[in-house]
Amino acid sequence: MSAVKDAIGRAVDGLADELESLSHRIHANPELGYQEVQASGWLSNFLAAKGFEVEKGVAGVETAFRATLETGEGPTIAILCEYDALPGIGHACGHNVIATSGAGAGAALAAVRAQLPRGRIQVIGTPAEEGGGGKIKLIEGGVFKDVDCAMMIHGFDRYVLHGDLLGIVRVNFDFTGKAAHASADPWEGVNALDAVIQTFTAVSALRQHVRPDVRIHGIITNGGQAPNIIPEAASATFYIRAATLDYMWEVYRRVVACAEGAARATGAQLRTVQSPTVYEPMKFNETLVGVFKANLERQGVTAEPPDPIRLGSSDIGNVSQVIPAIQPYVKIAEAGTAIHSRAFAEAAVTPLARRGLLTAAKTMAMTTADLLADPALVRRAKDEFAASR
Ligand SMILES: [Zn+2]
Ligand SMILES: [Zn+2]
Repeated sequence: MSAVKDAIGRAVDGLADELESLSHRIHANPELGYQEVQASGWLSNFLAAKGFEVEKGVAGVETAFRATLETGEGPTIAILCEYDALPGIGHACGHNVIATSGAGAGAALAAVRAQLPRGRIQVIGTPAEEGGGGKIKLIEGGVFKDVDCAMMIHGFDRYVLHGDLLGIVRVNFDFTGKAAHASADPWEGVNALDAVIQTFTAVSALRQHVRPDVRIHGIITNGGQAPNIIPEAASATFYIRAATLDYMWEVYRRVVACAEGAARATGAQLRTVQSPTVYEPMKFNETLVGVFKANLERQGVTAEPPDPIRLGSSDIGNVSQVIPAIQPYVKIAEAGTAIHSRAFAEAAVTPLARRGLLTAAKTMAMTTADLLADPALVRRAKDEFAASR
């Protein structure tokens, strides 16, 4: 295996300039979720040129793709690429590096395919991570059905092997009351805005009684038309996040109960609309993280412990709930550079980002080779997945 890994390292180094220029091209042409026509085209053409069989538009998602390389009967290992940008601030989440390190890992494996153990490698292009839930559509479309293990990396200001992600559910509350003159006949009205305000008040009381990892944040999206009209319609949107799916749904039900209580108290009618795009928490897989860690350390890189306070959400969490999956963080920016900032967007095309891209590509390719070589390792990752909540 050591010779294969050395060959993978050399293959990635040989592709370095090509990968970096692809990364810069994606960065210079930022595309929002589900509109990543250029990025998905460039990545799938790159992989096709390296010997992958590419299917575009998998699961009915136009900017998704699946590139497959088979070396015989064996496990299926997936490497995931994200390539959507953020509105206004472009590639401030560094998805250009996620995309090209995944494609680079695939290309390196293709370059050493004659020496690889038997199995199937899939580089999967997953659109619209920034809120659109592309991976959820791919899961529903069966793209991960035959995948044994999946991995991706995310750019960060340091190396971290695992970061918890919170599950998130989004909900709209639409209250309908009855309009009336607010001064002449207020007793004829039913105040929908009061119901919204009561909901916020009840949620604030709920906050004392939830676990510290819970985040509840809401805004009023409609608060009425004019002060002299009792608001006949008012709406609010809430995001509810928690570290486990069961607890997220429990808190969700309690927040809905706050809105129901407010409707009862005010006499307004409530319509609850839960968004179908639910990002799930990240399941930890020690087996896969361990293999990734060993391959990272083989290159002289040691990861730092995670920061348990700063918690976001991502649709890789959903993947981790259906198959063993990991998302280690790779240093592409100076320490202290926050993601979703303009500084992070600038960092994503620096020599530091090139180094992170190449290290990530090598580590993912080596991790894939380890998993293909040792079906028992894949079984252990799956057993661990089945046993963990
Ligand atoms: Zn992001
Ligand atoms: Zn991101």
